[in-house]
Amino acid sequence: MPHPNAQTTPAVRVQFGSSIRKTIADEVRRLGASQALVLSTPEQNDAAFEMAELLGPLAAGVFCKAEMHTPVRVTEAAMAHVNETKADCVVAIGGGSTIGLGKAIAYRSDLPQITIPTTYAGSEATPILGQTENGEKTTLSHPSVLPEVILYDPELVTSLPLPMTVTSALNAMAHAAEALYATNRTGETTAMAIDGLRAFSEELPEVLVNPTDLAAREATQRGAWACGTVLGQVGMSLHHKLCHTLGGSFDLPHAQTHAIILPHAIAYNARSARDELQPICDLLGGENAGLALHAFAQKLNAPLALKELGLKESDLNRAAELATTKPYPNPHPVTRSDIRLLLQAAWSGDQPIP
Ligand code: NAD
Repeated sequence: MPHPNAQTTPAVRVQFGSSIRKTIADEVRRLGASQALVLSTPEQNDAAFEMAELLGPLAAGVFCKAEMHTPVRVTEAAMAHVNETKADCVVAIGGGSTIGLGKAIAYRSDLPQITIPTTYAGSEATPILGQTENGEKTTLSHPSVLPEVILYDPELVTSLPLPMTVTSALNAMAHAAEALYATNRTGETTAMAIDGLRAFSEELPEVLVNPTDLAAREATQRGAWACGTVLGQVGMSLHHKLCHTLGGSFDLPHAQTHAIILPHAIAYNARSARDELQPICDLLGGENAGLALHAFAQKLNAPLALKELGLKESDLNRAAELATTKPYPNPHPVTRSDIRLLLQAAWSGDQPIP
């Protein structure tokens, strides 16, 4: 019988380094594949075409239509491409949107995936797939969804605009912050979460001073891997629930929403999980993890108010209702009235309520 704290972590090949993307042909061969379909968003088609060039005869084609929240209609168009080109693996180069498309293909076809992340969202390290259809976002977890190979090439994140660098980093930190109080956490997941938080708290200010500093960029990618890995290993709570609701039902952008909600959700949970959240205070200073994250976000010029993302104040009642209909594990009791207060502060851009 497995130990109750055992982690199920299937073997994933993870490589870091400048220009590591250029080993892509070897990685495809290592999987025993010979026809790779390269995926990207329309905005990153240059990166996808570079991959196809590096792959030469191993490239089955390029599909550059990935969209945020993995719409099923896009996946179906990509699956038609997979079948036409007889692709035997996918290469996803981009952020969580492109990696989500690769996962959606793998879920339907069991094709192996090589992911080359260009943001810090962390999706490449999880067996989780979120998909949208008819305006509804659903999430599943399945072993076929976890990518086989991750290549972290710091040269690729140097092009990430600074505002997106900041919000994507806070998105990653949110996985680690919630891992600190997850009911199924272990000593190992906590250590990894702290490593991830440390990487961003120490290296992100360096990256903002010099966005092309490859050593600092690589350190933040190591942080993204640690944060993504714990996201895949332990359960998430209030913060992720709120962001899922705001993204899925109000179409708010993923990374920015995470960045704004994080200090508020953590201040809320610090009421009952002060000790578990202490590592955040140790890294960022201060006595309340939520307020410390708020000050950190302010220092980085992160967006602070949901109203800046276009959410209407009149939507807050419905958001509070949607986020509290189904119970889920959370350190501090979740009530609709308290969540409504949290959302009001996050909407206005006020300090989190301790
Ligand atoms: P994204 O992939 O949507 O990227 C946002 C935009 O930035 C896109 O236009 C993209 O092409 C561009 N971009 C990305 N990297 C760039 C770079 N280095 N240089 C220039 N432009 C670049 O953003 P994201 O925040 O990484 O991903 C969000 C999506 O990922 C959401 O759909 C979310 O649900 C999903 N996600 C899933 C998981 C999971 O475990 N399933 C985890 C985190 C995020």
